[in-house]
Amino acid sequence: AQTDRPVRVAVVGSGPAGFYAAYRLLAKQKDAIVDMYEKLPVPFGLARYGVAPDHPEVKNCEDKFTEVAESARFNFVGNIDLGHDLPLAAIKPHYDAIIFAYGATKDKELGIPGERALHSVHSARAFVGWYNGLPEHRDLDPDLSGENAVIVGQGNVALDVARILLSDVNTLQKTDIADYAIEKLATSRIKRVRVVGRRGPLQASFTIKELREMLQLPGVSFDPIPDDIFPPEEVVSALPRAQKRLMQLLAKGSSNDPLTSPKSWSLDFLLAPDSLHWSPDHPYHLSHVKFSRNELDPSDPYSPSSKVSPKRLSSGKRALVNIPACVFFRSVGYKSLPLPGLEDLGIDFDARRGIIPNDGFGRVTSLSNKGEPESLPDRSLISHLPGLYCAGWVKRGPTGVIASTMTDAFTTADSIVQDLAKRAESTSLLHAPNHSSGLGWDGVKIEAQRRGLRPTSWKDWQKIDAAERKSGQLKGKPRDKLARVEEMLKVLG
Ligand code: FAD
Repeated sequence: AQTDRPVRVAVVGSGPAGFYAAYRLLAKQKDAIVDMYEKLPVPFGLARYGVAPDHPEVKNCEDKFTEVAESARFNFVGNIDLGHDLPLAAIKPHYDAIIFAYGATKDKELGIPGERALHSVHSARAFVGWYNGLPEHRDLDPDLSGENAVIVGQGNVALDVARILLSDVNTLQKTDIADYAIEKLATSRIKRVRVVGRRGPLQASFTIKELREMLQLPGVSFDPIPDDIFPPEEVVSALPRAQKRLMQLLAKGSSNDPLTSPKSWSLDFLLAPDSLHWSPDHPYHLSHVKFSRNELDPSDPYSPSSKVSPKRLSSGKRALVNIPACVFFRSVGYKSLPLPGLEDLGIDFDARRGIIPNDGFGRVTSLSNKGEPESLPDRSLISHLPGLYCAGWVKRGPTGVIASTMTDAFTTADSIVQDLAKRAESTSLLHAPNHSSGLGWDGVKIEAQRRGLRPTSWKDWQKIDAAERKSGQLKGKPRDKLARVEEMLKVLG
């Protein structure tokens, strides 16, 4: 018999990927109902907890997400950490499709001695979470009592960290930055921030807007880049437009005078982190970071993908350099992890690439490309796992901005729509291949109740949102984020 019940779709994660996939699906599949699961009581993922507080315009995407959430065919189910609080196997039977959009929950490590120390060494992920009010990092309490900070990594996240460390707190406190972060930053003695990369200026991954912002920070000078590091003029003039502008901006530097600017920053190239060192007199005080000098592949020094190797002294030893630091941040990328129970659904997480194996269009596949990035496996061996999809950073790896995440999430939603149409054509039993109960959250709820979970709804989020805005208004900021789950739940009574 033909079933005319709605198509039930679960989305795991309420960041940009989850919301854009839901938006597209609700628009194109008129009989779809979407349940969005989120481990925190509140939505929006890195739009709320990653994007810098002084970039409010980037958070405008939250208005679109709110429109999506107001659809009668959308349910928000917050405060449920899928795979931990509730097994994936408990939700699978109730859905026709599941979209994994849970982002990247870890960060990459450097693997150098001293990196795991409990004092003065932080991941950019933790620091960003701390100033943005992410409950997981509420108590980070970074040590900002010295003058020198070192950040390893030269992407936009590294520049976000540098900017927050060097910005005037009077400017920052008008943003939605966490209050406790402002209190701490107001006592910061950091005067100098060095943003260090393994390769050269042409291989750095920050973009023009973020660089320009840093070069224009009031009261902050920029150390000119040494000539021998900079690519020659004829190379710069032959670059594609965006990269050429970036190089020209770097060469021009900042107009802030180092003699009158109380703070400074630099971009230090061709240095690979080697080890972290503490002061012999103060075992809790980081004293310096040791770096090994690198050189670019002489046969191809000006390509964006140019490789580096350690620079050798005439003795054959590596050339080492110490940079003073009282606090150290690594900002070399985020990393997705497998959710517990993915294997019960037949998913073999690709740990090397940190992604759920997929066909590039968001369909989860049984076999991943585990060889070299270039070597695609024999396509005839790849099969789709019906009803399972992925989007965002867990689909394509933790790179790309909200706009590219949107495009990618749309592709995934379109795949679902196509597959549903194909399924409807090929069988009279529209939803038969997955044997789904079609109950969605109504079916899962029973199991959540049995486990004593306290899911939050969209209405609950609206209450938390209103409380944050009200308290923010009194302090002259857009919102005053609640940074503990207990505080959020307290608002709900
Ligand atoms: P996320 O945004 O990480 O969303 C994943 C969601 O899944 C989270 O809400 C998480 O809590 C939830 N989740 C995780 N595990 C579970 C689970 N087990 N059960 C239920 N839910 C779970 N892009 C820009 O365009 N402009 C910027 O200025 C910008 N700034 C950035 C700054 C930083 C520090 C970072 C890290 C990224 C920035 N980006 C920016 C990039 C942008 O944030 C990403 O492209 C985008 O957020 C990726 O979306 P996503 O949905 O895949 O992941």
